[in-house]
Amino acid sequence: MNIFSQGKRPLHLGKYPMEKIRRVEQTTTRITDQIPRVSKRANFFNRARFGDLGDKPAQEVRRFVTKSPLSKALDVVASSQVPLQDGPVNPQKAPLPEDPQELTNHIKALCYFLDADVVGMCEAPEYVWYSHDLQGNPIQARHRYAIVLLIDQGYETMAGSSGDDWISSSQSYRAYLKGSTIACIVADYIRQLGYEARAQTDQDSEVVQTPLILLAGLGELSRIGEVVLNPFLGPRFKSAVITTNLPLVPDQPIDFGLQRFCQTCMKCARECPCSAISFGDKVMFNGYEMWKPDVEACTRYRVTNPGGSSCGRCMKVCPFNRENLLHHRLALWLAIHVPASHPLLIWLDDFLQHGRRQTKWKWWLDLEYREGQLKQAERINTRDLRPQRKAPKHQVIPLYSIEVNPPPDFREAFPVKRGEALKPDR
Ligand code: SF4
Ligand code: SF4
Repeated sequence: MNIFSQGKRPLHLGKYPMEKIRRVEQTTTRITDQIPRVSKRANFFNRARFGDLGDKPAQEVRRFVTKSPLSKALDVVASSQVPLQDGPVNPQKAPLPEDPQELTNHIKALCYFLDADVVGMCEAPEYVWYSHDLQGNPIQARHRYAIVLLIDQGYETMAGSSGDDWISSSQSYRAYLKGSTIACIVADYIRQLGYEARAQTDQDSEVVQTPLILLAGLGELSRIGEVVLNPFLGPRFKSAVITTNLPLVPDQPIDFGLQRFCQTCMKCARECPCSAISFGDKVMFNGYEMWKPDVEACTRYRVTNPGGSSCGRCMKVCPFNRENLLHHRLALWLAIHVPASHPLLIWLDDFLQHGRRQTKWKWWLDLEYREGQLKQAERINTRDLRPQRKAPKHQVIPLYSIEVNPPPDFREAFPVKRGEALKPDR
């Protein structure tokens, strides 16, 4: 395998040489056949909205994106696309290539033509479908396939940010908007071809996207928890999905050695402002063997962050958040092919202060809506690396498994049961 050669590439392969990354039968995260479907009500941002995390998160979750004027503008456009996510299917099927691989390549090339950064296909197993929508209505697992898109959040802007300052939610929403636009166009196109298709976006998704990213061979699950890393983008992306019945050829999962790398590297855990990332080992959670984060602490921090709008600091400081320069490709090659180099790569990453805030790339204004008026932000997170920080002696991560979730149609506050979630048998 040579990850340096790119040359002239067919458009369906995209700009990153994903075809050179090792393919495996099973995801490197163990996924059992016992995965319960979860309701949208159990999602922690929705729990914050219903008041499950208390009054302050309930108030702040309504404005943690729109308190920044730029992410508000992005959110307005992204939410205007919700009616475009689904629609009527042409009753007449178009004449299409008979070879499913040719058809799959055509759809991938279309996604790249529309400016997706990485694209993969997989079957959409029943467990990835949410069980109920936010109104408590059951969701049917109605499409067999998923087209999964990754959208880069942009290296330079992230390099200029602390990861949890006033550009953070705009970085997310820029990628969500781009993903939503591409997904809505591709879904509409497929429906015109005579097949069912629905865009599944950050604004309204019927599917949990993380397992689909794994199954479509776009990355491996990382220590950050419910965040997948792509070998070329690291964790610096957002996803969008198109579910469809158009017959497609699935990709296979990938293995680029991340499980071993994350076992040694703890940088995201060290740098998280609210200690929401595990320093420990993987655990079984709802059928996945994973590093489980403290989702409650992360959500509380992101929605109430007083020095910025949301947070993506774990993503910003990760050694895989790279610029795709030649020496970054070399480091990636070593990480993949020489596992014994991991401690050296991790040391070097800290030695070179990768992940520090590079103010030459700060271009945005620190503005915040307060008391109904747009003002200079009162606080700005300018935090920087803290390589001396050690793992805490006792870190306990709550496991909010299905048994402690609110019922799918529960319309009032259902306070989080942190004590229950901390029980060792969970
Ligand atoms: S998003 Fe921020 S608060 Fe959440 S895990 Fe990452 S660094 Fe921690
Ligand atoms: S910072 Fe290190 S431990 Fe965390 S996801 Fe990135 S590589 Fe893995």
